[in-house]
Amino acid sequence: MEELDLAIVGAGPQALTLLSYIDEHGPKNMLARTRVFDTADWLAAWHRQFATYKIPMLRSACVHHPDPDPYGLIRFARQEGRSDEFFGRIGRPSTELFADYCNSLLDERGLRELRTPAKVTDVRPLASGGAEIVTAGGTWRAKRVVLATNPVRPVVPPWLGNAWARHGREPGAMHSKDWTAERHGEGPVVVVGGGLTAAQIAAAHAEAGDPVTWLTRRLIKERDLDVEPLWLGEHLGKFHAVPDPKARVSMARKARGGGSIPAHERNELCSLIDSGKIEHLSSPVDGLQRTGDGWKLTVRHQGRIKVLPAANVICATGSRTHVRYESLLRRCRSERPTRRAAGHPHLNRDLSWSDTSIHLMGPLALAQVGPACRTVIGARIASERVVESWGGNVNRQYPGPT
Ligand SMILES: Cc1cc2nc3c(=O)[nH]c(=O)nc-3n(C[C@H](O)[C@H](O)[C@H](O)COP(=O)(O)OP(=O)(O)OC[C@H]3O[C@@H](n4cnc5c(N)ncnc54)[C@H](O)[C@@H]3O)c2cc1C
Repeated sequence: MEELDLAIVGAGPQALTLLSYIDEHGPKNMLARTRVFDTADWLAAWHRQFATYKIPMLRSACVHHPDPDPYGLIRFARQEGRSDEFFGRIGRPSTELFADYCNSLLDERGLRELRTPAKVTDVRPLASGGAEIVTAGGTWRAKRVVLATNPVRPVVPPWLGNAWARHGREPGAMHSKDWTAERHGEGPVVVVGGGLTAAQIAAAHAEAGDPVTWLTRRLIKERDLDVEPLWLGEHLGKFHAVPDPKARVSMARKARGGGSIPAHERNELCSLIDSGKIEHLSSPVDGLQRTGDGWKLTVRHQGRIKVLPAANVICATGSRTHVRYESLLRRCRSERPTRRAAGHPHLNRDLSWSDTSIHLMGPLALAQVGPACRTVIGARIASERVVESWGGNVNRQYPGPT
């Protein structure tokens, strides 16, 4: 059985950020005995979601990327003569620039070849510390394990769930995770949700000439990042001062709030609304029924029921996590039970599961990392914490527990 210092499950931005921090800030020689397990290539899920929604630029700022040096991406752009690929007041990088930068980190830091193309089917915490990592191709023993698997599932509103139960998964009524741009040109579209994904889908259909109704629960909320910038500094300090993880989970959830949209996309949408290409309604949905080839969505609008016929109804209602969504935590849950708050486990400060050296990055670390935990910012906060706990010499940029 091969012995590793570190096994990471998942080869997304969280894993890349952690490896960059290890490479830069130690512990020394750890990367020589590190493996990253994923059947998909590096950042495959990231690239897929940007391609699906044809997203031209990131939501996050120029200083939010996997390298520990916040100015690394700006320097890379300058060297490549691509400084014009930052947009807006926070310098949002273009999708291509960010992808090229991540590729350069993988190559220059020698991280690409750390990936073993395998699905991990079990993680067994060992009494002696460390854990066993089981794949179809073999079993590894690792001193430390990091799960960076992004265990989220779509939030399906009850009216969509009911429609699926009544009519089966007929085409046209879907969560945004199943949406593709090929759906253009099929007829009227209703997009539900007040966040950036809803905005991008609504704009894509409107620009393709489809009649679009955009439904939100409240007026559009403009915000650069999906959390207020204070949550990357001052608020984060206050968050860590709260001892009860349950209270921290509700603070973090409140901070994320409902959906919000950056100024650029908001302005785009407003001009599509002004030109009549999108109708915007702040109305709750009453129900969804199948009608022949299409759908009929009923909403409560100004005290009346309004009927919206649609070829496609797209619910951009986000995703949620729960400790049960990660099957690799099955043994941790049964053999090292720990309390949880709203589905989030009470992790240690170094993001490890109680009594193990299995660390969690991403959505399940909400109570330790804060409301940005799912994003690249969260990956930076988590990496600082984890690498420091392993004896690395990290120059912290974000407040953490003392
Ligand atoms: C449309 C969209 C736009 C976004 N834009 C931004 C943005 O601009 N800025 C930002 O900071 N964040 C953004 N995010 C949020 C977030 O940063 C991304 O979702 C990011 O991809 C999450 O990274 P991750 O490493 O947690 O997981 P992922 O990128 O989802 O990677 C997880 C990997 O784990 C692998 N895996 C899972 N289970 C196993 C297993 N058992 N064995 C082996 N491998 C496994 C999967 O194959 C996958 O490759 C965006 C999200 C979406 C949906």
